[in-house]
Amino acid sequence: MKFLKVDKVSKTYSGNEKPAVSGLAFSMKRGEIVSFVGASGSGKSTLMKMIGGLISPEKGAIHFQGKALDKPEDKLIPGEEGIKMVFQDLRLMPNHTVEENIKYPLLLFDKDYQNERTAELLEVCHLKEYKKRLPRELSGGQQQRLALGKILAEDPTLLLMDEPFSNLDPIVKNKLIVDVSEIIRSQQLSLIMVTHDTQDALMLSDKIGFMSEGKLVQYDSPFNIYNKPKSIEIAEFFGSVNVFTKEEFQQIFNCSLDIGDNKKVVVRIESFQASFQSDMLRLEGVVLGAFFKGSGYLIKLKVGSHLLDVFANDVLKIGDNVPFYVDRHKIIVI
Ligand code: ADP
Repeated sequence: MKFLKVDKVSKTYSGNEKPAVSGLAFSMKRGEIVSFVGASGSGKSTLMKMIGGLISPEKGAIHFQGKALDKPEDKLIPGEEGIKMVFQDLRLMPNHTVEENIKYPLLLFDKDYQNERTAELLEVCHLKEYKKRLPRELSGGQQQRLALGKILAEDPTLLLMDEPFSNLDPIVKNKLIVDVSEIIRSQQLSLIMVTHDTQDALMLSDKIGFMSEGKLVQYDSPFNIYNKPKSIEIAEFFGSVNVFTKEEFQQIFNCSLDIGDNKKVVVRIESFQASFQSDMLRLEGVVLGAFFKGSGYLIKLKVGSHLLDVFANDVLKIGDNVPFYVDRHKIIVI
């Protein structure tokens, strides 16, 4: 039995010609973290709402722990037992303390359990020292952790998060990502999140689903999404790339490639190296510009009539003729 099985679901909003989600299928195991990424309007939120039981698909079905989700219109309160969503606006109770916010979903339980579970969740979410504060007296990251603690008190098995880390500065965000993954793993939960930040998705996920125009184009490990993208759109979404036709690539690298004539060759900017190791492809180009990027330089390189983007560790002099090398294994053929 699959933990979650989404079976060819489609949804078209009334008044729209194009489906928001179309024939989408995937499954996940218990304990996994899955991220959905893709351009705005690609159907990510619609998918989340269907899994959360807030809207129903017109076609297809969603099974959670072996049981088909009920239609929201058949329920008094839409939503599925065991599946809980953390919304972007967090939905905290502004006039109640951190502790009260977490305890609220537990009020039907006996006092001892309420206190015990609240204390545990304050600990898990690193909020013990702030328990007497109001939500507005917390930082953005702490508020996110409180929203998570409040949802955990409802005892879900599958958590849904829509853009959980947006509006946070990078330092807080990186720490929160570590916290969230620890909380998810320690509480033996599963997580599906929507994010526009590809780094978050790569860092946190067991699987990434890439959506485009309502379709799931690739559902794969972060490693494969990055290194074996199924489309140029996916390759470009996950970093800066150079895209060549077969002919252009062969000309630039003065090599022959044994691939179909209609294939495209993608080389990530960080796949270029300034030093040669065995079995590497070589090109030589003129440096047109060098832009400092912190960990190195983005080099604009002119090779014949082609303009390439290359990442280099050291700055290069404009006008210099320089060689670059690429490991054959690092080229992506699509
Ligand atoms: P994403 O989350 O990837 O930005 P959405 O699922 O929000 O994508 O939207 C997918 C498509 O469905 C878009 O074209 C959007 O305009 C449309 N859409 C979303 N919600 C509604 C709605 N309530 N009514 C009509 N169209 C909608």
